[in-house]
Amino acid sequence: MSRAVLRGVEPGSDAICEHCQAPIKFVARLQQRQVIANVYVDARWDRVEHFHEQCYLEAGEPYGEMRS
Ligand SMILES: [Zn+2]
Repeated sequence: MSRAVLRGVEPGSDAICEHCQAPIKFVARLQQRQVIANVYVDARWDRVEHFHEQCYLEAGEPYGEMRS
């Protein structure tokens, strides 16, 4: 089953947000968080998707509620 977790953004992150297609960048002064979703298709792990925290909410939490 797909699930989404909330994590800090690490320096050197090069993830792209699935919702807005913008990079999820580390900024030292900000404590940004990102959503990392493990997506399962037909009960098998398929891929990882990344979202800005706010974008995940705007997308309607497609992989369920964020867990920390
Ligand atoms: Zn985004």
